[in-house]
Parts: sequence; structure tokens; C-alpha cells
Amino acid sequence: MSYDKLSCEIDCVVFLAYTICFYDRVNFLWSMMPLSRKEQFDVLFPDAPAFRFRQFEEALFGVSVQSVSDISNMSLAMRETITEKIPWLSVREVRVFESVKKDTFKAVVEIAGGKRVETVLMRNARKQWTVCVSSQVGCAMACTFCATGTMGFTRNLTSDEIVDQVRFWNIFLSKHKELSSRISNVVFMGMGEPLANYDNVKETLRLLLTYTDIGVTRIMVSTVGLLPMLEKLLDDPSWPAVRLAVSLHSADSDTRKQMMPSSYDNFLDSLVKWTEAYFRKFESRRRHLTFEYVMLSQVNDTQMHAEALIKFANRVGNVRINLIPYNFTGSVYKDSLPGDFDRFQKRLEEAGVTVTRRKTMGDDIAAACGQLIVEKDFIS
Ligand code: SAH
Repeated sequence: MSYDKLSCEIDCVVFLAYTICFYDRVNFLWSMMPLSRKEQFDVLFPDAPAFRFRQFEEALFGVSVQSVSDISNMSLAMRETITEKIPWLSVREVRVFESVKKDTFKAVVEIAGGKRVETVLMRNARKQWTVCVSSQVGCAMACTFCATGTMGFTRNLTSDEIVDQVRFWNIFLSKHKELSSRISNVVFMGMGEPLANYDNVKETLRLLLTYTDIGVTRIMVSTVGLLPMLEKLLDDPSWPAVRLAVSLHSADSDTRKQMMPSSYDNFLDSLVKWTEAYFRKFESRRRHLTFEYVMLSQVNDTQMHAEALIKFANRVGNVRINLIPYNFTGSVYKDSLPGDFDRFQKRLEEAGVTVTRRKTMGDDIAAACGQLIVEKDFIS
């Protein structure tokens, strides 16, 4: 090989390596999270005593506080710097959709870096509101029936970005006096896998429990069943006693693996062991644990699947099973036929399993469970 040819090949390799590094760097920057409000505050006021940030944080959740200028017990200079440098809300409204029944609203919001996520406001049985928050941009879990799963994963949301979805709806309700104003529940059932963003979700829970009147029994974190994280929270004294929902979707291992690529051969046995440990530790929280089950026609709603689910429920000592009607997402699946759905539910009830059926809300604006995806025409 001539020297020229060799040098040209080396150049090509070096160029390629640079391109890959650059691409990786861009991807890395792209997926980077912005600074939290606390970090921005500490940069601006390195010498401020701790209570100053708490004052700011309290104000963010204050009912009558609409901006930093309303914080009366803070110096004017500090208020002006905060107003200029730290956005009052870390999510920016792009568009709000309203369901025909006017009982569900979906917002597409933009976060730092220009990415967009969705958050939903639903009227609940108590005639108050439940906010459904996203915890990630996209999701890495790739459940085959879920629209968010098709997006892939971009980045975790910060705790500010998650809690600000609740603040966003609070502000929205304060501007719509015709709607009742109280948000009573928060569910982590939007885009993303909350336990894959453990620290930021835990911090969001702390903020909600510290600064709002929403209590632990009115907050539900839904997980695909990330066992290392489920185990971690059992040993974490600062993980609050919020309700947990595990997306079971099938008690037959092969069916579950087909529906959820994150599942594996001994997942169900490990989940039984985890549930036993959970009840050993928190017997009083028995009612705080739910297993979700999306009903897919001829996929997980047959008699064989009902029997497997009864066996599973008996092994874990009769937990609550929440049957979810499938919301159309353009996947290969179809929702259970009404007769099959009823038969499945009846068989569970006859076997003594506690079972509830989730009401579908907001499907006309693609705001129902699993339908959250930032539609292509909204992606910047
Ligand atoms: N990553 C979390 C939150 C997902 S959304 C989790 O896996 O639990 C909340 C619930 O909606 C989950 O149980 C999820 O499996 C379910 N879901 C996803 N797509 C759905 C669809 N198309 N129809 C009905 N429920 C769906």
C-alpha cells in the first residue's frame, strides 16, 4: 500500500471518529437536563441563607402568589434578579385540547431545549381534578401497545418540570372560573417510566407533599415494574407512602414478554417475592398497591389468561387488579370485545379477586392512558 493511500485511509478513520464523537456529544447535550431552580438560585445567590430559597419555593405554590414580585418579605433586588433569571414556570404552553365532554384537558408543553411533553387534567369522581404528569420525554420501555413507547427515550424531566405540570394546571384552573378549582389527585401515568427517573420523581413527591394539600393516598406512581427500583424504594426511608401501581398486563410470562419487551422469564416470580416483601414491610399499605391490566382482544383476555391472573393474585395475597380498556394507539392490537371483557372480570370476581374497571377519559383528544405522544406536527 502506498504511503498516500495509507494516509488517506487514516484521515478517513480520524474523520469518522470525529464525526461519531461529535454525534455522541450532540446526543449527550441534547439529552442533558437543565439546571434545577435550586441550582440556578445557588449560582445567583451563593451566600443566601437556606430559608431564602424555601421562601421562593413556598411562593411557587402559593395560591395568591402569581409571580416573584408578590413575595413581600424578600428584597426588591433579589426579586428582580429572580424574575429576570429564573422562569416562574419551567413548562411553556404550546396548546391545550379540551374533550367534548369538557371533563378532560390535555396540554402540550415545551421544556428547556425545545422538547415537548404532554400532561392531562381529568375531572374525578369527587368532582375535583386529577393531574396526570409525564416524567420523561418519551420512554425507553417500548411497551408494544403504548404510543409513548414508540417515541423512544430522549431525557428525564427535572423535578421542576414534573411538578410544574401540576402548577400549570393550577394556573389554568385559576383562569377558568367556570371550572371547579381544586386539584385533589396526581398520577404519574403520563409519558415515561417514573421509576427510571427515581430521584427526580422522589423530589417531585417531596415538593407536592410539602407545598400542596395533596396527601400520600391521593398520589399514584405507575411503573412498568422496574424491580431494582421497586426494591430500592422498599429500603429508602425518604420514599413517601404514596400509592403504587404496577403494570402487570399479563400473569402469563410469554404473553407479558410479547406485550412488554422489558419483561423477562422470571419477572413474575420476582414480582411475587417483591410484593411479599412490600406487605411484610407495609401491611397497612395493602390497599395502596394496584396491578394494572390493559385488556387486549385475544392477547391477554382469554380464559387461560384469567386463570393465570387468578393464580397470580392468590400467590400475592389478593391485590387489587385494575382492568383498563385499551385506548387505540395505532398498534396491532384491538380492544377486548365487551362480552370477553365482562366474562374476564366476572371470572376474577367469582374467584374472589378484588377487581375494578378504569373509566376511559379524553380518548377523543388522545389524552387517555398510553395515547400520549407528541404528535409529529407538534415536534419542533
Ligand atoms: N411507565 C408507566 C406509566 C405508563 S402509563 C407504567 O408502565 O406503568 C399508565 C398506564 O397506562 C400503564 O399501566 C400503561 O401500561 C397503560 N397503557 C399504556 N398504553 C395503553 C393503552 N394504549 N391503552 C390503555 N392503557 C395503556
